[in-house]
Amino acid sequence: MIGGGVVGTVLANLLSLREIEVTLIDSGAQRPRYPLIHSKLLRFKEDIELAKVSEGVYRELSSQLRIDLMHSIRSITIVPQECYRDEVSSIIGMWREAGVRVSIIDEASDYGLRKVGNDEVYIISDGGDHLVDIPALMRLSRNSKYIHYVDGEAHIKFNGRDINVVVNGDNYTGDYVILTTGAWNSIMVSELGIRVPLLQYKCQAVAVLGKAVNNIVYDYVLGIYARPLGSSIDSLLGRLGLSVIVGGDGNVRVEKPGSSKGVDEDVINDVISRLRLRFGLLIRVGSGFGYCEGTPDMRPLVGSLIEDKLYIIGGFNGYGAEVGPALALALVEYILGGSWPNYAKPYLIDRFSGGWPSTWDVDQEAHELCVGR
Ligand SMILES: Cc1cc2nc3c(=O)[nH]c(=O)nc-3n(C[C@H](O)[C@H](O)[C@H](O)COP(=O)(O)OP(=O)(O)OC[C@H]3O[C@@H](n4cnc5c(N)ncnc54)[C@H](O)[C@@H]3O)c2cc1C
Repeated sequence: MIGGGVVGTVLANLLSLREIEVTLIDSGAQRPRYPLIHSKLLRFKEDIELAKVSEGVYRELSSQLRIDLMHSIRSITIVPQECYRDEVSSIIGMWREAGVRVSIIDEASDYGLRKVGNDEVYIISDGGDHLVDIPALMRLSRNSKYIHYVDGEAHIKFNGRDINVVVNGDNYTGDYVILTTGAWNSIMVSELGIRVPLLQYKCQAVAVLGKAVNNIVYDYVLGIYARPLGSSIDSLLGRLGLSVIVGGDGNVRVEKPGSSKGVDEDVINDVISRLRLRFGLLIRVGSGFGYCEGTPDMRPLVGSLIEDKLYIIGGFNGYGAEVGPALALALVEYILGGSWPNYAKPYLIDRFSGGWPSTWDVDQEAHELCVGR
């Protein structure tokens, strides 16, 4: 397996727990530094199904690896009245079917949130969101005696029969090669002369210090999200009535991985000013960026690039920790059992077999609500 990021790490563990010998190669090009959001509060029915399967995958890994991966967290979704009426009120039915407890409240000052406009609807959800300790799973996997972990940048060579993966001058072969290199996927396969419908873009976030926030806030009035850091520092700061909040927006900028040296200050400052409208006084304490990738329809893809030899799983845009583990499990089932589970069928790479545009722009991420408003 090439790429030990969010999805690669989960997949390597699923395979090794099924007694498949796994070599996991990672270059360290990017790594999440704090737990990631897993949410079932998604827009599309098929995505919610994936999020439910992913939750089961995290529970399996937690119990088998004896690690506490998932921490339940309440969330508040703020939407304009019009978007609530036209879109979100019907989506909430799907959230409830997925076991989320949803209620609407009149104002959110009890949650430390300011009112910004007069037509805001506040949706409280319990049982829909978790912070998943992906960094802890990665640390465990690097030191696992069941996964052969290799540090280094991989290159793929295909000689017409076998695939060789070259890392630090050493050759690796296997029954299968699985590519989970995120935003590097299309660069990796271009070495084989293969094109894939994936476009890379820069995702950015800011960390601010402010009054204690214990919930995730998805704010579609201001176009931002905010969440506690989800680390041990939370309880320490919480005793002082403070917290570090990580925030961002849906701003995406198409860019090849490795092109930037830092965050875009204009984007970060704009996010901070919107966070202040909602949370009041905030002090910037950090910022970071990474690379994400999207397909033309902004839904992930999974499937084979060279039949029975090379598989790819990617295109996770900003919700890889939410839907990625489900497609990792689907790939395990396909490799071991020979057929795709139903929940994976809408995501098969074959949907692009008729072609895709030669250029396109990255659309709004698939987990965002109130699209185009
Ligand atoms: C700031 C930020 C916050 C985010 N927050 C969330 C969140 O809360 N919840 C959520 O669901 N999603 C979140 N995302 C999106 C999420 O990170 C992605 O959807 C997810 O990482 C995609 O998983 P992946 O395994 O496909 O790719 P990655 O996780 O990017 O993994 C790719 C891996 O491949 C490795 N690699 C690359 N090239 C090579 C090579 N040649 N050889 C070997 N290894 C290589 C890299 O080092 C990396 O480890 C966030 C993204 C960013 C940038």
